[in-house]
Amino acid sequence: MIYLDNAASTPVHEKVIEEMIPYFKEQYGNPSSIHKYGRLANIAIQNARKRIASLINAGSSEILITSGGTESNNTALYGIVHHNKGKHIITSSIEHDAILEPCKRLEEEGFQITYLPVDKYGLVNPEDVEKEISPDTCLVSIMFANNEVGTIQPIAEIGKITQEKKIVFHTDAIQAVGKTLINVKELGIDLLSISSHKINGPKGVGALYIRKGIKIDPLILGGGQENGLRSGTENVASIVGFGMACQLANNNIVQNQEHFRKLGMKLIADILKEIPHTKLNGHPEKRIPNNIHFTFLGVNGEDLIIKLDENKVAASTGSACSVKVQKASHVLRAMGFSHEQITGSLRLTIGITNTEEEINETVQVLKKIVKELRAVSPYKEKYNF
Ligand SMILES: *Cc1c(COP(=O)(O)O)cnc(C)c1O
Repeated sequence: MIYLDNAASTPVHEKVIEEMIPYFKEQYGNPSSIHKYGRLANIAIQNARKRIASLINAGSSEILITSGGTESNNTALYGIVHHNKGKHIITSSIEHDAILEPCKRLEEEGFQITYLPVDKYGLVNPEDVEKEISPDTCLVSIMFANNEVGTIQPIAEIGKITQEKKIVFHTDAIQAVGKTLINVKELGIDLLSISSHKINGPKGVGALYIRKGIKIDPLILGGGQENGLRSGTENVASIVGFGMACQLANNNIVQNQEHFRKLGMKLIADILKEIPHTKLNGHPEKRIPNNIHFTFLGVNGEDLIIKLDENKVAASTGSACSVKVQKASHVLRAMGFSHEQITGSLRLTIGITNTEEEINETVQVLKKIVKELRAVSPYKEKYNF
């Protein structure tokens, strides 16, 4: 099986698993305990926190460990609006559901949310952010890289505006971490979400970077762990694994980027060469190097996924994080795609374990399947397939 759905989740790195095992076996202490078991578990968490912080050039004390990207996003939104007095949030129309759904809830609770439009590449215009800021605005939340089409947003420009206007700036960087260098100090970011399982770590753990001086209200109350910002006994083994995944991502970022770029560019070039009536979606340059998103006109993306699966290639139409079936992509709609263009879309996301042979094999399989599906397509005449 060829796995090309690394935006949905990634294989856990061997070194991550090795690092985690002792915390299931000998090191089972509660990090809050005073005895040696507790102290060792606590040290392991502090160590992991340093590794997580390093990946984005943050300080250890600025890292809040959570149960994953979804919780990090929810904590950023609720944490800020409950702490600050503002009643207005600016976000974009192409965010992950882990931003859009809590925003919907906040709207029901009386908050005003502005959903910024994007251009045909999926880019937010920083000037729109500036224009929408009002005395009531308490938060700007714009994702770093989009999980469907891979477009990287003008984060530094937005950060400059929010700093000048003294508005808190959050970014969902879950798809960008490990794919592009992120320095929170240089980008004017106040809050940033990371998820472990998107960077070859275990599922169910993540982090929220909270710049020193930014105050949030906790979502989960109890024993006061994580500086009182997230109570509950820490998931020690997963945190340790996440720390190792961050260290590996940090150490290998240059090689990994080169690997993604090489395979990604080959995949794009070969698909465009081998399969007619095909279009690359998202921004041609401002994109994370491991994301390839195409529209194959006249083909149903869901059929494509099923056929690919039968031919041992795991891919996606877009977001895997939504359990709702056949919901037309809100991202592609916001980018101005027609129903037909949305229907024919496919996302291939490369991971650190993929090889050039797998890319070659995928293109051959794809070519065959697209041809088969187009032979029975209702658009057959229209495009003269
Ligand atoms: C995967 C993902 C999430 C959710 O993260 P989980 O750790 O799976 O909860 C949020 N935002 C983006 C952009 C993602 O890709």
